[in-house]
Amino acid sequence: KAKNNGRGGYAFHTDAMTRQVRRDAALTDRIDEAVRSGELFLHYQPQVELASGRITAVEALVRWRHPVEGVLPPGDFVHLAERRGLFHVLGSWVLSTAAREARGWHDRGLAFGRVSINVSPQQVRAGCLADDVLATAQETGLDPARLELELTETAMMEYGEHYRTQIAMLRDLGVRLVLDDFGTGFSSLTYLRRSAVSTLKIDRQFVRELDDNPDAVETIQALLAVAHALKLDTVAEGVETRKQAERLAAMGCKCGQGMWFAPPMEAEAIERHLVAGFIRPDADAFIRPIGR
Ligand code: C2E
Ligand code: MG
Ligand code: MG
Ligand code: MG
Repeated sequence: KAKNNGRGGYAFHTDAMTRQVRRDAALTDRIDEAVRSGELFLHYQPQVELASGRITAVEALVRWRHPVEGVLPPGDFVHLAERRGLFHVLGSWVLSTAAREARGWHDRGLAFGRVSINVSPQQVRAGCLADDVLATAQETGLDPARLELELTETAMMEYGEHYRTQIAMLRDLGVRLVLDDFGTGFSSLTYLRRSAVSTLKIDRQFVRELDDNPDAVETIQALLAVAHALKLDTVAEGVETRKQAERLAAMGCKCGQGMWFAPPMEAEAIERHLVAGFIRPDADAFIRPIGR
């Protein structure tokens, strides 16, 4: 009986793995076509200044409207594109789509601050990122100073000389670099200084723990101290509650992003927020401007 159970468990496990492998293979085969046939789209999520609720940036998050599977999150396919060497197809599409949209906001007088784009390690490693950004800025007419690139800590550490050349170019264009998921990698202060990032984005795992783990406060304080020492801006990601937003503000974190303020949403929906320019889910939690 025990043996049956064991085999049953094993068989179930391999079935699930086989299904996953098949699904991944099928998705991988269609990514290129999906980009060309317009199945990808972007969601946008605002980042706000904790003290005021002012929208400081909007992060572009890619989704795939798959004809059979429905809307897929990036976690389902971005790594597949990267593995197949399609990071450039995907990355260029995201960059130019977000830049075009942001240029439209600019033309309509909407205050979006900056548009923030997630960049995969391969884009930097391949050496085409700075050129792509320059080409996109020229094509769309978006000021590169309105552009922010999000890179992960572990990814940044691999680049060496190659990284620095491109980063210097991007900095000259006025592009801001953001370290995404800060706290999950192994960056030293020396490394962070050399990386030329201007913002640290505190990973949501630390923010989530703020509610019930007293140690999380100290961890976040340590991360904020690093940012302060290097004179870098801070954004907390995954802010889901008023309590989290208030504690982060009290600890000196500058900006926040997360469900408490607004979920990632389609372009039309984000525009309604941009018209206001502020997001205050609970007006009492924010300092009101004098005279109102
Ligand atoms: P990320 O850059 O750290 O993005 C934040 C993720 O947290 C997003 O997931 C967002 O939907 C989610 N999120 C936002 N607010 C909350 C909240 O309050 N609570 C929780 N639990 N989660 C929240 P999403 O859109 O599924 O993206 C996942 C990851 O995929 C991103 O993590 C980013 O690393 C990657 N990604 C997204 N778009 C792109 C892209 O265009 N190119 C590349 N290379 N990677 C992308
Ligand atoms: Mg990001
Ligand atoms: Mg992140
Ligand atoms: Mg994250």
